[in-house]
Amino acid sequence: MQNKNSLFLTIYFLTVLGVFNSFGQRSSKGNSTEDLKTSPKLVVGIVVDQMRYDYITRFWNHFDDGGFKRLVNEGFNCKNNHFNYAPTSTGPGHTSVYTGAAPATHGIIGNNWYDKVIDAEVYCASDDSYASVGTASDAGKMSPHRMNVTTITDQLRLHTQMRGKTIAVAFKDRGAVLPGGHTANAAYWFHGDNEGDWITSTYYMKELPKWVANFNASDNVEKYKKPWSTLKKINTYLESGLDNNTYEGLHSGEVASTFPHDLPKLWEANGKYNLLKVTPYGNSITTDFAIAAIEGERLGEDLFTDFLAISFSSTDYVGHFYGVNSKEVQDTYVRLDADLQRLFKTLDKKVGTGEYTVFLTADHGAVHVPSYLKDQKIPAGYIEFDDIKSKFEAFLKYRFGTIDIIKNFSNYQYFLDHKVIKNLDIELAHAQEIIAKELLNYEGVDRVYTGQQMWQNNYTEGLPYILQNGYNQKRSGDILMVLKPGIINYSKTGSTHGSPQIYDTHVPLLFYGKGIHSGSTYQRTEIPDIAPTMAALLGIAFPNGTTGKPIVEVLE
Ligand SMILES: [Zn+2]
Repeated sequence: MQNKNSLFLTIYFLTVLGVFNSFGQRSSKGNSTEDLKTSPKLVVGIVVDQMRYDYITRFWNHFDDGGFKRLVNEGFNCKNNHFNYAPTSTGPGHTSVYTGAAPATHGIIGNNWYDKVIDAEVYCASDDSYASVGTASDAGKMSPHRMNVTTITDQLRLHTQMRGKTIAVAFKDRGAVLPGGHTANAAYWFHGDNEGDWITSTYYMKELPKWVANFNASDNVEKYKKPWSTLKKINTYLESGLDNNTYEGLHSGEVASTFPHDLPKLWEANGKYNLLKVTPYGNSITTDFAIAAIEGERLGEDLFTDFLAISFSSTDYVGHFYGVNSKEVQDTYVRLDADLQRLFKTLDKKVGTGEYTVFLTADHGAVHVPSYLKDQKIPAGYIEFDDIKSKFEAFLKYRFGTIDIIKNFSNYQYFLDHKVIKNLDIELAHAQEIIAKELLNYEGVDRVYTGQQMWQNNYTEGLPYILQNGYNQKRSGDILMVLKPGIINYSKTGSTHGSPQIYDTHVPLLFYGKGIHSGSTYQRTEIPDIAPTMAALLGIAFPNGTTGKPIVEVLE
């Protein structure tokens, strides 16, 4: 009796104190950390390389309920989501998604760029101080050392005292290395050529874990060495152009760019395992590998939130080769939808429905093939820098007495030789302006800006704002060139990207799962908003270069 009374009194006082509610159950309000943060067991970040926003709407009727439609219908759809910088390419794209910043801050100003300090071109993810793991080639010599700031994945690792795991996977090395951040447990990417294996760098580990070695030893990749036919009947693909047209690339040995693409027959003459990149099978292999990672690393099984960063690279290779309007691009997205459905089903089973959070976006958009646009009477075309080279060099000789004043041209930026300019006794800003004005004379060039303008102004909208966000004071060039919309420097077949134009900046942004509100918005959101949105959801510190803002409507 005595004991019962004291238990009753204890519960009575704890109820008064608010620890238990009137039914004696523990209250979720008050001092619970769940009020401050959402703790999914796993965050899955998905980047679809070269995915335009309108692919969601164009291919909608071909999607099943469990892939893109599940994210859109049950999650949050940011319909007016943009890159806020140029160059719009893969290295800067993945970095900006994960750092919540633009190249001005994070320093990844291109896939490749001219490094002023060492006077040589560098690749965004290469690092000779590390060795390859899983290949005898140099393809594993990578690290994120050129990325100047932390990622959302780094912050989650720091917050959990390194107990939450980060695993990053992509067909492209930079699509895995940069999202993984500086502290990833592992980043894996696909090495084609004669090998067809998933590899990594000694930056992460000395040897591949057993589950990766097993995956490589299995027939997983081999089974995709088969003809590529459309997943659904090709005559139902009404949302793309004719299969046989002149706007698409041709593999060596093909006479027409039509289905089926006979991979076994094309194999030897087209880079062997590299051929898989230019098919939707690259995305399916990535899905298989991501599922193997969930199982092999036991992701989402303990109390500490893990992070799986997946990038689907084949959408980019297929877009570059066949173009935005091709049947091949349509089939690649129909198949990606099936792969996503497979991934989400695995997550439901392994991690639990409602126990994980997903975001899906892209690293850049893409332009309609200009030769196709021209045939539809839309202003578009191509610029050949070789054609303007002689005129430009003649101008440089006449004006400065030397062509050595130009050190490098990359990512639509001219890098000047500052020593030559000093010897000529010309102000750098003056030289930049003289050259910029000359470039504006050339066909296809729409606008020019100088490094000096990027330094002196604070642009808040339009193209100058986009260029300034992409302009890194230490790394970027002296003159910035913008081509007219629809004009590209590229082959006459296929699509590309890299510009500040809206077709390169407008990409999907979908959130889904634990802590995510269902809905959509037409308000402009920007790529650097993704990382702080996820940080706010998780209740962790923002990446240390963050310039974006949490998208409040997304969060419950
Ligand atoms: Zn690309």
